[in-house]
Amino acid sequence: MPTSSLMPLPTPSRSVLMIASEALPFSKTGGLADVLGALPPALAQLGWNVTVAVPRYRGTTGGQLLERVTLPLGGTRADVGFYTVDVAERHRVLLVDEPSLFDRAQLYSEGGVDYPDNARRFALLVRAALEYAVRHNHTFDIVHAHDWQAGLAPVYLRTLYASTPVFATTASVFTIHNLAYQGVFEQDWLPRLDLPWSLLEQDGLEFWGRISLLKGGINFSSMITTVSPRYAREIQTAAFGFGFDGILRHRASRLVGILNGIDAQQWNPETDTFLPARFSASDRAGKRECKAAVLREYGLSSDEAALDRPLVGMISRMVDQKGLDLIAGIAHELPNLGATFVVLGTGDARYQEMWRRLAAEHPDTIAVRIGFDEGLAHRIEAGADLFMMPSQFEPCGLNQMYSLRYGTIPIVRRVGGLADTVKDYDEAGADATGFVFDDYTPEQLRRSLRRAVDIYRDTARWTILQRTAMAEDHSWDRSAREYVKIYEQALGSRF
Ligand code: ADP
Repeated sequence: MPTSSLMPLPTPSRSVLMIASEALPFSKTGGLADVLGALPPALAQLGWNVTVAVPRYRGTTGGQLLERVTLPLGGTRADVGFYTVDVAERHRVLLVDEPSLFDRAQLYSEGGVDYPDNARRFALLVRAALEYAVRHNHTFDIVHAHDWQAGLAPVYLRTLYASTPVFATTASVFTIHNLAYQGVFEQDWLPRLDLPWSLLEQDGLEFWGRISLLKGGINFSSMITTVSPRYAREIQTAAFGFGFDGILRHRASRLVGILNGIDAQQWNPETDTFLPARFSASDRAGKRECKAAVLREYGLSSDEAALDRPLVGMISRMVDQKGLDLIAGIAHELPNLGATFVVLGTGDARYQEMWRRLAAEHPDTIAVRIGFDEGLAHRIEAGADLFMMPSQFEPCGLNQMYSLRYGTIPIVRRVGGLADTVKDYDEAGADATGFVFDDYTPEQLRRSLRRAVDIYRDTARWTILQRTAMAEDHSWDRSAREYVKIYEQALGSRF
């Protein structure tokens, strides 16, 4: 068969400017950074030239200073440095340096309080990215903005930059990674962001008397994507729409769900350098070694009896979205389920406290580490038998896909990307890859945990489940091809 029928050759000159508030390996608080680290190289593989613009936060190192420029914003001026990193052929990262805005302890908030100038911080990121294109006369086919922080990119393209020649043929794509974060600010920000008051209307940025930068991204982009097909449907309903369901239904013909991939090199049990031993679907001996090691790392017993008990892992932001309130509802029952729990995360003080207390009360079966630890996250994925992710809502979710790859069977709720990536044991027969429950109740989570622990005891069935899970393909290549289709669609139907 000729190769061309397998892989249509991309147009070599296509280019995309991505704008986002975080990207690996430069910054990360959540899944957004993983996507911005992995999607660009996958697009580059398909022949696209990708430039990713992110802030140069405190701790972000690397990059060559290309130039410093003065940019106007809302009647003031900002002194901005453009640092560039050529990560690989066709993959450049632009680090936007403005220390008074980005050289801070955290990315978005401190002590649970958002930085009051977040509108300015991220508007400047967007302006800097667009100015970079203008100054270097770079005609990007697509500007791809991610989440509310980049929501003004499609807006500026159709206002401030509407007649800028370099963007004459540019189409915009806006991706919603999590609708819960909406970039809502007081109206008086409009002039401070160089936006006309006329945008304070239903089809503009107006949102319950204030402005929403997320709404800007939704209303002004050529195409909208979100990170799983099911979430694309869910956010058009009142239950998951956070007040945006009507707006999204209005633009439904432009809204598409594309599952995130996972970085198959970073998350590969056969080569993962964070692990004490490696394993594969056909030889899972190393997984038991990983289990012993992670139990020890948590100060738990790793004798034969401990190794035979199912080990449930959880790596999560400790917030309601991730189902922490469900866990709180069955906290007192966890020690009676016949399993051991290892937990890693940070988040709401009450949930951190809950896990600390549970670990103190049940030191033999529950252990917790409060913090952010990439290496430990890998070792939990490798060492655990089960992974608990009972989210209230989940746009895509990455940890359940890492879990599948590491033969760690996910227990998830049937929402968003979790529903799209995990097939339930009772429903999917030989294709099953995990345990899926419907109702957001502690009782259903408890039942799923019990069911999972029971099946775990049946070694033959468990082996099949693990093999099926490990055979799933969630690589970025597939998702990147879907994005290319959306880019082409956006180009064909620019506003
Ligand atoms: P979200 O972006 O909503 O937090 P995802 O599952 O999409 O959830 O992505 C979370 C990412 O952050 C995953 O890569 C996960 O492993 C990682 N992560 C979350 N909390 C921690 C932590 N405490 N330590 C290390 N990695 C973490």
